Amino acid sequence: AVQNNPHTTLITPKAPVAANTHGGRAKCLQRLVRLDMPVPRTVALSFDAVQRIAEGQVPDIAAILEQFDAEALLCVRPSSEDPDWGGPGAVLNIGMNDARYLDRSADMGAEAAAALYLRFVQSYALHVARLDPDVFDDIETDGREGLSLYLRAYEDETDEVFPQDRGEQLIGVLRSMARAWDGTSARLLRQAKGAPADAGLGLVIQEMIPGVGQGECGSGVLQLIDPATGMPQITGRYLSQSQGRDALGEGVAALYLEKDERGPSLEDVAPEAFADLKANAALMREKLREEMQVEFVVQNGQVHILDGVRVPRGSRAGMRIAVRLAEDGIIPPQEAVMRIDPHSLNELLHRQVHPDAERDVLATAIAASPGAATGRIVFTAAEAQASAARGEPCILVRRETSPEDVRGMHASVAVLTEKGGITSHAAVIGRGLGLPCIVGASEMRFQTKKKLLNAPDGRVFKTGDILTIDGTSGQVLAGQPEMLEAALDDCFQTLMGWADAERDIAIRANADTPADAQTARNFQAEGIGLCRTEHMFFDPGRLTVMREMIFAQTPSGRAAVLERLLPMQRQDFVQLFRIMEGQPVCIRLFDPPLHEFLPTTRSGQRELAEALDLPVSDVERRVEAMSEYNPMLGLRGVRLGVTVPEIYDMQARAIFEATLEASKEGAPVVPEVMIPLVSAKREVELVKTRIDTVAAEVATEQGQEFDYRLGVMVETPRACLRANEIAPHSAFLSFGTNDLTQMTYGLSRDDAGRFMSAYVNLGVFNEDPFHVLDGDGVGELLKLGAERGREAQPDVTLSVCGEHGGNPESIAICRALGFDYVSCSPFRVPVARLSAAQLAI
Ligand code: PEP
Ligand code: MG
Repeated sequence: AVQNNPHTTLITPKAPVAANTHGGRAKCLQRLVRLDMPVPRTVALSFDAVQRIAEGQVPDIAAILEQFDAEALLCVRPSSEDPDWGGPGAVLNIGMNDARYLDRSADMGAEAAAALYLRFVQSYALHVARLDPDVFDDIETDGREGLSLYLRAYEDETDEVFPQDRGEQLIGVLRSMARAWDGTSARLLRQAKGAPADAGLGLVIQEMIPGVGQGECGSGVLQLIDPATGMPQITGRYLSQSQGRDALGEGVAALYLEKDERGPSLEDVAPEAFADLKANAALMREKLREEMQVEFVVQNGQVHILDGVRVPRGSRAGMRIAVRLAEDGIIPPQEAVMRIDPHSLNELLHRQVHPDAERDVLATAIAASPGAATGRIVFTAAEAQASAARGEPCILVRRETSPEDVRGMHASVAVLTEKGGITSHAAVIGRGLGLPCIVGASEMRFQTKKKLLNAPDGRVFKTGDILTIDGTSGQVLAGQPEMLEAALDDCFQTLMGWADAERDIAIRANADTPADAQTARNFQAEGIGLCRTEHMFFDPGRLTVMREMIFAQTPSGRAAVLERLLPMQRQDFVQLFRIMEGQPVCIRLFDPPLHEFLPTTRSGQRELAEALDLPVSDVERRVEAMSEYNPMLGLRGVRLGVTVPEIYDMQARAIFEATLEASKEGAPVVPEVMIPLVSAKREVELVKTRIDTVAAEVATEQGQEFDYRLGVMVETPRACLRANEIAPHSAFLSFGTNDLTQMTYGLSRDDAGRFMSAYVNLGVFNEDPFHVLDGDGVGELLKLGAERGREAQPDVTLSVCGEHGGNPESIAICRALGFDYVSCSPFRVPVARLSAAQLAI
C-alpha cells in the first residue's frame, strides 16, 4: 500500500523521493540506500502528507506500519527541504510499551529496557501530550524505578494511562511534529535562515536500531575532517549503550573513534565495526560529493548508518573542504569555486573574533571595514601615534575622521567613529589599510573632548581602557575576546587560481601608498584602478607644505611651494610604478576641497600660524574664507584643476618624470592620468591641453618619448549623460560610484549613516546604496554613460572604481554592462576575483 501512495513512501533505490517533495533528509537517506549502506528500513512522508496531518487528517497508519516488523521500535525525524531550516526534534523508541518492555528486558536487561521506555515516555509527554517539562522535575531516579514514577506522573497529569498501541503513539508523534512546524517561532526561525514562507516539512520514520543490548552496542557520529579547520582527521564521538546523539552530550564519557593517545576509542573496542564505518564514510564523501557527518549505531558489533548530514562548518573549513574535494577529483574545480560565498572570504583575510568566544557587546553599528582587533582606547591621532611608538596596540575613537587623522589611523589597530556611513572617510581609509573599522556608532556617546566613551548600558570607557572592534559584524566589544588568525594559506591560493582561470572581467585595486600597492600585488590585483593622490599629502611633513601652498597668495608664491611638493610626489609615483612592475597604474589628480587640509582646531591653527610665520588671526580668516556650505559640491576635483591649474601641472610633471625614471629599469610604464568630478566636456579640454603640454615639456627636457593615457572619472550624473561628448577626449572612463550614488540620490555619503538603517528596515532601500550598487537608478546612469561613451569612442576602456567595485552584486552589474575592469580596496580584491569567477561559470 505504501509504495502506491505518493505521499508515504518506503525508501528504496527507485522510490520517487525528492528533496523538494520529501525533504533533504529523505533524499539523502535514499542516496545511502542506493549505495547499499546498512540503513535501517525507512518510510518517508511527503510535505503534502505532513501538511494534511497538521490540518487534522489521520494518516493511514496501517500502511506505514505494514513496512516494519511488528516488534520494531520506530523513530521519527524531520526532513525539511534545506536541512539548515531545522525542524522539530527527533522522537525515538516509538512502540515502547509495557509488553515490549518485558520482552526487551529478557534480552537486554531490565535497566536497559527501562531506559528506552523512559526516554520515549518523556518525549511523548512533552511533545505529544504537551505536559510541562517540570512535571518530571522531582523524579531523580532512572532505570526501572524511574520508569514507574514517570508513568505514574504521566497518568496523574493526563488522567489517562500511557498509550500502549504503537499506531496510536505514532499518530500522536506525527501530528505533534507536523504542528510544531507550523508554529510561529519555528516559522520565524527558519525564515531568518532564508526559508520561504511556504516551506514544507517531510518526516522520516525509521526502524530503531536500539544501540543498547548484548555485545558491543552504542551510537555516535563520525566526520572525516576536523570541522573547525576542514583538515582531514577522523573526528566524532561514540558512546557504548546509548542512542541518538547521546555521545555528544556534555559530561558523558564518550570514546574517540580512531585510536587516540588521549583515551579509549571505538577502534579499540570494536575494530571491525570501526573499519566498516570508515569505509562507509569515505564512500559517502565520494558519492555525495560532500563532507558528511555520519550518524551511526553499533548493534552487537554491527554498524548501521542512520543518517548523513552536511558537516556544519565555518568559512575556513568550507574553503578547505571544497578545495580538497576538487583535488581528490570528486568535484570539478569550477564547482569548488561556486561553493564558496565570496562574502565569507572577508573572514579568512582578516583576524576574527573566535566563533566560540564570549562577546561583551557594547553597541552594534555599521561594519565599515572587516576584521577584528583589540587595543587601548585613544581619542586623538597624536595619542595613537604615541601609543604605537610605545608598541601598544590602540583603537582610535573619533566622532568622525578627517585627513588630519590618517597618520593616527595608520598607528591604530582599529577605528571607531560616531558618524559616517559605508563610504565616509574613516570607512574608505580603514578598508584601504585593512584596518577593522566601525562607523555610525551613534548609540554610544562620544565625549572626545572629555576623553570618555559612554556605552548605551551606562558603562563609561576612558583613555587606555581595552576595547575590541569587530568590523566584520559591526560590534563594539568590551575587553579582549579570543581571536582567530587570518588564513591566507595554500588552499586559499589554489582556489583563487581556479577562480582566475574562469574570470572574464579584470580586477584592479584602489591603492594610494606603496604599502597599499604591495597589498594589491599580494592579492594579485591586475593593476591600480584608482590612486587617490591627495592621500599622499597627509604625512605631517607634507601637510605643512601643502598648507603653505594653499595659503600662497600669488601664482608665483604657489609655484615656489609646488616646486617643493614635486619631488615628493615624483618619489611616490616612482615607488608605485616599481611595485606594480609594468601593470597599469591609474593616478587620479587632486580631488578634495582644499580646506580639508586646513586645521580645524584652535591649536592646529596656532601651529600653522607658527609654521607660516603669520598671525593666528590671518590663518583663522583664511580658513573661514575657504569654508563652503556644501564642500562635496563645491570647489573640488576638476574645478580646482581649472581654476588653480598649477596643482595639476605639478602632479602631471611628477607622474611623467616618475614614468621615465621607472621605465629605465624595467618594462616601459604607461601611466593613466584621471581627472575627477568632471561634468562638462570643456573641463576635460582645458585640463587635457595643459597636461599634454606638460608631457611634451618633460619629453623634450629629458630627450625621451613616453606614452600615457588620459581619462575621465565619471562621477556626476551629467558626465554620464554627456559621456558621448567626453569620451572622444578620453582613453578611459572610470565610474566613481561613490560620488555618483551621492549625487544621484542627493544623499550625503558622510551623513547617510544616521538614517540608513531606518531606511533599510522600512524597505525604502533594499540595501545601503553606498554598499550595493543601485542597479535601477545609478546602474541606469552607468548604462547610459557606457553606451554613450562607447558610441562616440568604441575602444574606450570602461571601469568602476567606487567602493562598489568589491561588492559581488555590483560586480555582476558591471560585468553585464561589459566593463573592462572593477577596482576596489586591496583587501577586497580576492572577494572580487571570486565573485567575478562565479559570474562567468
Ligand atoms: C568615487 O566617488 O566613487 C570615488 C572612487 O572617489 P572618492 O571616493 O575618492 O570620492
Ligand atoms: Mg569621488
